Amino acid sequence: MIKENVKRLLRELPEGVTLLAAAKERSADEICEAVRAGITIIGENYLQDALRVINEVEEKAEWHFIGHLQSNKVKKVIDIFDMIESVDSLKLAREIERCCERRNKVMPVLIEVNSGKEDQKTGVAPNDVMQLIGEISSLDHIKVMGLMTMGPRFGDPEESRPYFRKTREIFEQIKALHLPNVEMKCLSMGMTNSYKVAIEEGANLVRIGTKLFGEREGRQN
Ligand SMILES: *Cc1c(COP(=O)(O)O)cnc(C)c1O
Repeated sequence: MIKENVKRLLRELPEGVTLLAAAKERSADEICEAVRAGITIIGENYLQDALRVINEVEEKAEWHFIGHLQSNKVKKVIDIFDMIESVDSLKLAREIERCCERRNKVMPVLIEVNSGKEDQKTGVAPNDVMQLIGEISSLDHIKVMGLMTMGPRFGDPEESRPYFRKTREIFEQIKALHLPNVEMKCLSMGMTNSYKVAIEEGANLVRIGTKLFGEREGRQN
């Protein structure tokens, strides 16, 4: 099933849009099947989940951290992940900088925008994105590669459109500034229920779980 789902979705997505498999609660076997079917990026929300499966997934793929990241997890996260999509504070950015400086590496990140949903606790408010990126651009071991946003998770996907549009606007504004250490390439928006709308609004990275792997048991996140 996973194989067919991945292939179908890959055929469906327009050129230039990359499919990330959101793999929370999935086994290494399920992830391997997805990668063999053509997935190139795996997203995990928790360090523990990634550690549980990463050594068993021998197929080559990029790993993106897409969950809420606590400072005390940064050291491990920068060792095993290729990108952090969920940077939403200067404090977190400084910790990433500190750990990467020691490792002598540069971490690609996206800034997570809380594009407007009140009950969403993570992400930086749209009005604060510009300032945060301005501050992060002085950190030499972090490369800002774009923005990520969640938008409403359930309900009518059309309800997500204004959030995606707003995020795209901020993306374009920041891109036009040509800040050092900032290379606005990646706009990560859209999940199972909303990816079509997200793509219409300019997403070039969609993070999809349920539609690839089936319903999750826990239904958390
Ligand atoms: C779970 C999750 C997704 C995928 O959600 P689905 O509705 O299962 O497609 C995407 N992004 C993040 C940050 C997630 O936590």
